Amino acid sequence: MEINLKEFEALLHQLTTFDKMYEQVRIVDPVSKEVLFVKNNNEEELIPLIESCFGIWGKGMICNNCISMRAYNENETFIKIETSLDKIFIATAIPIKIEEEMVVVELLKNVTKSMILGDIELTEGLEIKRLLDQANVVAVTDELTQIYNKRYIIERLPVDIVKSHLENQPLSLIMADIDHFKRINDTYGHLAGDYVLKEFACILGKNTRQDMDWIARFGGEEFIICLLNTDKELASTIAERMRTAIDETVFNYKEEEIRLTSSFGLCTLNGEERLDYEKLIHCADKKLYEAKKTGRNKVID
Ligand code: GH3
Ligand code: MG
Ligand code: MG
Repeated sequence: MEINLKEFEALLHQLTTFDKMYEQVRIVDPVSKEVLFVKNNNEEELIPLIESCFGIWGKGMICNNCISMRAYNENETFIKIETSLDKIFIATAIPIKIEEEMVVVELLKNVTKSMILGDIELTEGLEIKRLLDQANVVAVTDELTQIYNKRYIIERLPVDIVKSHLENQPLSLIMADIDHFKRINDTYGHLAGDYVLKEFACILGKNTRQDMDWIARFGGEEFIICLLNTDKELASTIAERMRTAIDETVFNYKEEEIRLTSSFGLCTLNGEERLDYEKLIHCADKKLYEAKKTGRNKVID
């Protein structure tokens, strides 16, 4: 990232105000997971954070609820409560524009002894952890299908693209869409349609590698499958496996036996190029459109 040095230095100067208020202040580029500046004001307090979201950058890991990515995408300040060992931290991510480049200022504070939470019973540390985990999951989960939602796509895909480029590994994106889904709603009712969407997501999930790939609902009856370290040939085989599985499934909703087909568009980055995530989605979408136009129930790569 290229940043105007003068403005950057002015920003650093302003940040010294926070020295006494925060354990750590840093400026980051959340897409490339690059820490542009870091100042630790209390090293000891930071030890429990080594394995938390603040510590994992640079280890090739991605946090599911990266508030810096969220601040960057939504141009809003985001706050996150992070627990690690027996300590509670509050992380704040503030988006700041320097010339045309967006960076994020992160402020980290240990609030274990100073935080008060309204009506929640906080006698058990584990209860806090459970509530926080639950809130984190909800933010990136699609309510109906329980797979990831669009927000997750926007936060995760740009990072995976950068990673695939840095590691020179291919990345494949599949866009799946149920054929004539409107007819299913019209024939069997909206609740049957909902049931089909849930089962459809489940079949996609069964055909992906649990620890490597991820799937998300892009909207309505459209889904995104991101296959890491997967070239076009393998991705095409996986998409074809999904298409066949859907084609062969009978969706039993109450007394109805529902059958359907689906279409798939596939786009692969070979690891050498670094495409904007929106362009990659657009590319898969175009292929999907081609599949629709040429008869549906097929994979176009
Ligand atoms: P095509 O083969 O060209 O994709 O046709 P289609 O009928 O699948 O596509 P179209 O975009 O015309 O219709 C999509 C329908 O999906 C319309 C909308 O009512 C329905 N839909 C979107 N979200 C939901 C949902 O959450 N539940 C249900 N039951 N239906 C939904
Ligand atoms: Mg459709
Ligand atoms: Mg559609």
